[in-house]
Amino acid sequence: MDRQTLFTKIAAREIPADIVYEDDRFLAFRDIAPQAPTHVLVIPKKPIESLETLDDADAKLVGELFVVVRDLARQLGLGNGYRVVVNCGEEGGQTVDHLHFHLLGGKPLKWPPG
Ligand code: C5P
Repeated sequence: MDRQTLFTKIAAREIPADIVYEDDRFLAFRDIAPQAPTHVLVIPKKPIESLETLDDADAKLVGELFVVVRDLARQLGLGNGYRVVVNCGEEGGQTVDHLHFHLLGGKPLKWPPG
């Protein structure tokens, strides 16, 4: 059986979330602690732990995840620009061990991040 994570539980509707997109392989929902006017997490339903442990065989899935992010950015009106972030590991600030892309936008974003 697949590993359970906080995000597989959101996908299973065991934990509530504001879901903005779903298909058979991907899910997107609004971050519970938004860091920008639009802050959405986009995940593969497959519980890949992190970018660090990503299997080469999942490269296509991750490519398709980027396409979902692109389409969502358009749908959410982020035509002026946005940022996609993947936190990886402890020093990268990853707190949930399920690969997720942060989609942030809706204001001018500062660089570099902390
Ligand atoms: O990249 P990182 O692992 O830190 O991101 C996890 C994100 O999941 C955080 O931005 C946090 O606010 C979000 N989160 C959420 N809903 C939960 C628990 C965490 O949106 N129930």
